[in-house]
Amino acid sequence: MIQQPSRICRVVLLSDQPAAALFGLSLRMTADDQLWLKVQVGGESNPPAPGEVVVVVADAGMEARVPWIEQDGLVASRLVLPNQLRETDVPPLVEWVLSIGRLHVEKVSLRRLVDRFEERIKRDSGRVRMADLLQEANNRLQEQSVRDGLTGIPNRRRFEEHFDFLWGRAVGDGIPITLILSDIDFFKKLNDSLGHQAGDRCLQEVAHKLATLVDGEDDLVARYGGEEFVILLWDADRKKAKEVADILLHGVSDLAIAHPDHPSGIVTISLGVTCAVPSLTSSAEDFLHQADELLYLAKSSGRNRWEIIPEGKP
Ligand code: GH3
Ligand code: MG
Ligand code: MG
Repeated sequence: MIQQPSRICRVVLLSDQPAAALFGLSLRMTADDQLWLKVQVGGESNPPAPGEVVVVVADAGMEARVPWIEQDGLVASRLVLPNQLRETDVPPLVEWVLSIGRLHVEKVSLRRLVDRFEERIKRDSGRVRMADLLQEANNRLQEQSVRDGLTGIPNRRRFEEHFDFLWGRAVGDGIPITLILSDIDFFKKLNDSLGHQAGDRCLQEVAHKLATLVDGEDDLVARYGGEEFVILLWDADRKKAKEVADILLHGVSDLAIAHPDHPSGIVTISLGVTCAVPSLTSSAEDFLHQADELLYLAKSSGRNRWEIIPEGKP
């Protein structure tokens, strides 16, 4: 049962300092019965009601602006806060106010107050951590939105962004870039003979292999869609493009993923390779289209091979 306070007491906090708000909060936590404890933080306060005893805690500047502070018998006690009240000043202040007001909390354990403060600070820093976590979650979402869910490599959206970026940069710097479109051969048959899950695993293995074989800082391997992957190489001329195409082709066949319905018994890829030094008059869309046509050519000429744009062709 709550003990009645000996007197109605209003604690007025005339201070805008954040620590004063903490002070008020700590008073509220200390006193269970809000009837006899009214805490007001900041701004000018109304004069007390008859019979009400007020404990004023004020900033020096604030105190001067409150006319009733000087009236006899109204203010039981008052304290002028230092201008820079620190959090550590708060528990002793609370104890002071409680002792002046002779409230029903006879004895305030400073330890308890400090513990409560620590709890609050933990909650607050929890909030800070929450903000960090939110930020982290947002970053992760952002990151996920440009990654392919099945293979974990960048997705088509990421490729489009990066292609745009590299194309513009290559036009400005006069640097050759290479674009390779790669497609798994007879993939539908693999799904049909071994099941969709085996197909998924094959996509993951091939994606991982391609990504590990291409590691230039500005290069990119992305899942273009279905069983197609796109590879972008920065500062790569025809010679380099051919080398990389060979490495990719053999890298995938070296995985030796069983494919019962493939003439060679293992998973292979076909590649369409194009490279150019982009100019203001050339089009990124045509460049991509070329790679697609070359891929089609590689398929129609027997698969498990690459076709490259003929030399001198823009
Ligand atoms: P080609 O050698 O001419 O490329 O023939 P293909 O069978 O590889 O090509 P096709 O376009 O006929 O079939 C592609 C198949 O890829 C069809 C589709 O079901 C499958 N596929 C697309 N995305 C996925 C996926 O995420 N997982 C699995 N398991 N299969 C997929
Ligand atoms: Mg395909
Ligand atoms: Mg295919």
